[in-house]
Amino acid sequence: MRRPPAPLRVLSGIQPTGRFHWGNYFGAIRQYIDLQTAGEAYYFIADLHALTTIREPTRLRSLVLDAALDLLALGLDPERATLFVQSDVPEVTELTWLLMTVCPMGLLERCHAYKDKKTRGLPADAGLFTYPVLMAADILAYDATVVPVGEDQVQHIEVCRDLAGTFNHLYGDVFTLPKPRLVEGGAKVPGTDGQKMSKSYENTIDVFEDPGPQKKKIMRITTDSRPMEEPKDPEGDPLYQLFSLVAPQADRDAMAATYRRGGFGYGEVKKALVEASAAFFAAARERRAELAADPRRVAEILAAGAERARLQAGRVLGRARAACGLERGAAAPRRRP
Ligand code: ATP
Ligand code: MG
Repeated sequence: MRRPPAPLRVLSGIQPTGRFHWGNYFGAIRQYIDLQTAGEAYYFIADLHALTTIREPTRLRSLVLDAALDLLALGLDPERATLFVQSDVPEVTELTWLLMTVCPMGLLERCHAYKDKKTRGLPADAGLFTYPVLMAADILAYDATVVPVGEDQVQHIEVCRDLAGTFNHLYGDVFTLPKPRLVEGGAKVPGTDGQKMSKSYENTIDVFEDPGPQKKKIMRITTDSRPMEEPKDPEGDPLYQLFSLVAPQADRDAMAATYRRGGFGYGEVKKALVEASAAFFAAARERRAELAADPRRVAEILAAGAERARLQAGRVLGRARAACGLERGAAAPRRRP
């Protein structure tokens, strides 16, 4: 008998390893949040994953709270989507172990986060090595059908499908196999030095950075030194690319025409960028300030999210435990379509 198609359930984890910058927002978070209207959506702040890079408890705590505030301010709607903190759902770590027992070493040895560190001769811990298994448990625990990811995470979804498939093959139909969905508009956001914007390159413009320091950063963006009179191609210019992200269409067109005409200074473009950025994020900033002033509300949202997430993860873990023989006397319940 054919199963009816599974309902669309979107899941996305966001690492709280630093304050969100424009690359994170325009390259990923914005698209994740948009998917909350596409079906049932689960979003978690991946504090367990962050532990492999952040070893300062106070910093981790504040980054997790900042991530929650940022996501809510940027439009994540807790009435529509389930927002929770990864470590509030211990079912997932138990599930990680069950998956670990069916995971060949070679599969993880091929994963690039670990491989990259190894080739660079850097020490890697077992947390980084087994990271894709925790990620698989994150996805499988909620019967997610769609996982929006950047190019760099597609491999981890394949690992997840591999592990789920092996487990299902051994023990019956326990897990729902998810599909990756490449986020669109994945064009690389340039940083203040013209390279890809990235925390590691220290070239970020953070979404909720205070206006003063943000303005300073923008005014220092690297530009080329061609004479002012020379007409320029806007598309290849990082400053124009940043402007395009935050300016309304009419202003973008006008700015592109200015570039093509020549005879302008980059200082003017930077000033326009400062203004466009302030306008673009004004409403989100206001929402963030309101939420930050009401920590109880945020705690309630995260607690309610964790409760919903645990209910779902508990069901899946129950199926997995029973299927592999950890529940005495219980016949393995099968996955419901
Ligand atoms: P790190 O320097 O530690 O790699 P990062 O600043 O590059 O950090 P990540 O945590 O690697 O940020 O990325 C989180 C998400 O944001 C990913 O989905 C990634 O594809 C996206 N992202 C990060 N930087 C950019 C960028 N410059 N342009 C587009 N998307 C980006
Ligand atoms: Mg990166």
